[in-house]
Amino acid sequence: MTDGQTLLAVFAAFYLMECLWIVPAQAWLAVGRDRVSRFVRPWDRFHIAGGSPVLLHPVPSPQVPAMPWLLIAEASHLVLHRDDGTREILDWAQIEPQASEKTLRLDASHTLRLPNAADATAWAALVTAWKALRPEQRRAAFLKHARQTLSLTEAAAQSAAAGKTGTLALLGTIILWWCFVVIAPAYRVLGDSTRFFYALGVLPVLTFTQAFLFLRFIKTHRLAVSHRFWRALGIALLPHLSARAIDLVCDALPRRVLLHPLAWAEQPSKAAWLENARTYWRRAKYRPGWKTATEPPADAQALESFFKAENITIEDYDPAPALQAPAIAWCPCCHASFLKADLLCQDCGGVELKTVEATPS
Ligand SMILES: [Zn+2]
Repeated sequence: MTDGQTLLAVFAAFYLMECLWIVPAQAWLAVGRDRVSRFVRPWDRFHIAGGSPVLLHPVPSPQVPAMPWLLIAEASHLVLHRDDGTREILDWAQIEPQASEKTLRLDASHTLRLPNAADATAWAALVTAWKALRPEQRRAAFLKHARQTLSLTEAAAQSAAAGKTGTLALLGTIILWWCFVVIAPAYRVLGDSTRFFYALGVLPVLTFTQAFLFLRFIKTHRLAVSHRFWRALGIALLPHLSARAIDLVCDALPRRVLLHPLAWAEQPSKAAWLENARTYWRRAKYRPGWKTATEPPADAQALESFFKAENITIEDYDPAPALQAPAIAWCPCCHASFLKADLLCQDCGGVELKTVEATPS
């Protein structure tokens, strides 16, 4: 390896490290300027420091964090959706919510990590308010919160706010492009010539401009970014920090509520959105005892109202699978087929089956 190649490899490694974040295992990142072009998810099989690693979109882009409902208020208990997909029932009497940085402590043994400190504070206040309510009011309070997190207008507003960082994204992309596509080949062709040093000299102009834009954005939008002058210095002097300046700003953007991933309706595509909607619906609705329950779980009710308001039919969000004879029943949760209707799906913890003849919903 020549010196130039080594330098480039080191820069690429530093850049990738800058793209690697630790976020809550169940977090979603909605990437896109006005419309979500893709969702980035962490590798939830790995757990580090209460979260999971995520590789941010490699091209600097505006992004908005989102989370499904991890806490669901029912009259007699609080339901906690754990990272491994299981649910835990917590007693209201034991719950004393406290926010500390990005962590929400619920009781002596249960903590939750949230995308940022403001979310943890907001959740602590919300759970405290739920706890103070009369038992019969808690479900309605959760449904109200769920409606706010599924607001299409709020999702559009948060994406638009993140989209305002477009200049930082554009300059970040130009810096990246200048390092990999211009300087690297220029060194091969021109060597240590004056023309090469001119090309290299453009880089500090770009990074200093990025540091200026970073500070100006923070000032105009009154964002709380810790150590912002040190960070601006890093952005001015180090190209990999400069290219990713947008992430610091997106992370600090204030928001009214931490949205549910389904709030970006039909994004990035209708098919992908429906697939996510079905997954969340099945997990919420079909639990052991669903057939005989007097009322659906609060999260299933919230989703059902949302689908109704968005004119999504039950065939769209809860389609019946195509059964192969002689199967006559299926598990509504995992869609495994069964030969007998009176069995329970043990894979899903004992969920009652649906049958061809009668499909109560
Ligand atoms: Zn199943």
